Amino acid sequence: MTPTVSIEELPARTDLDRDAILALLSLSDPEGIERLRLAAFDLTTRLIGDEVHYRGLVEISNICACDCCYCGIRKGNRDVERYTLSREQVVESALWSAEAGYGSCVLQAGERRDPSFVALIEECVREIKERSVSDALPEGIGITLSLGEQSPKTYERWRAAGAHRYLLRIETSNPELFTRIHPGAQRFETRMRALGDLRDAGFQVGTGVMIGLPGQTLADLADDVCFFRSRDIDMIGMGPYITAPNNAMGGRMMRRAALLSLALKMIAVTRLALRDVNIASTTALQALVPDGRERGILYGANVVMPNLTPREARKNYQLYEGKPCIEETRTECSGCLERRILSCGRRVGWNSWGDSRHYMARESERCTQHGA
Ligand code: SAH
Repeated sequence: MTPTVSIEELPARTDLDRDAILALLSLSDPEGIERLRLAAFDLTTRLIGDEVHYRGLVEISNICACDCCYCGIRKGNRDVERYTLSREQVVESALWSAEAGYGSCVLQAGERRDPSFVALIEECVREIKERSVSDALPEGIGITLSLGEQSPKTYERWRAAGAHRYLLRIETSNPELFTRIHPGAQRFETRMRALGDLRDAGFQVGTGVMIGLPGQTLADLADDVCFFRSRDIDMIGMGPYITAPNNAMGGRMMRRAALLSLALKMIAVTRLALRDVNIASTTALQALVPDGRERGILYGANVVMPNLTPREARKNYQLYEGKPCIEETRTECSGCLERRILSCGRRVGWNSWGDSRHYMARESERCTQHGA
């Protein structure tokens, strides 16, 4: 299939339609892919600048109420040693990242809705916000949560405690595929509703999908990009599907080289279609090839998530096989990552939240409309 628009024209266009998106995802000649990459990289520089922002990742708990077939910490995987970090450990990790100049952190865990967990998160968020205020971060460190589907009330509590961004992947915009990979009580409609609840609670909303799921087509991926745009999403975190330890998914993982190429094309196309959103270069890319995250940046990503989980816990938070950096200390990770980012012609956006430009533009438009 040939693209309906020439790739050189793309950065100037705001109206990439589904056919154009699908054509770009279908590119297979190296020159075409390189033109796509350059267009996405240049558009990122133009709309967002050359800074890549860090979100220090704290994997709070691997206890999970869900049984997602693809996931290594699903409830049914008996081979996982379960843990929950203490409040002190979580706060210490987040404060370490504030002091290291990261500007933001992400608190992630398996999905739990029990009152003690909801309260633990609320307390951690409140304490991290209070204690991370400094000259460099006058409003404290920025906090993103990635804690699955929760009630509107819980989202409101966590927002009020001081978290201001939330990442909840839809995994796929194809409802049938969603149902196939989520046995049990999880529903596509509930996930959709949760995205709306997050926006109502005042979060910057992030979502994303896995790329290369068994049974997923290129048309599904084109629909995913259209979905992100139609829901006016602020941040995207997506990565390749990689087989999990004790795999419970039917079907096969894609071959690594093809999977990497597809995941990178998805980043570039999402940048061109959604323009000023934040896009993460996810750790799963690095599980495919050692320089996977740099490649994500070269295809238009502008966020990375260095792992800050205490080392003893890290090995028990393996969503997929080959999770990188399990043995590195957080200081080693930090130094290594900055060198990698500089090698892409980017620099680290130290000591700032690095919020989604897309969100900020929408907010300022809203204020103008209300005469504020
Ligand atoms: N409980 C939270 C965090 C889940 S883990 C939530 O539900 O949002 C974060 C993401 O890891 C998931 O959304 C999924 O997209 C990704 N993930 C899980 N297993 C994976 C696998 N085998 N390969 C690639 N990504 C995976």
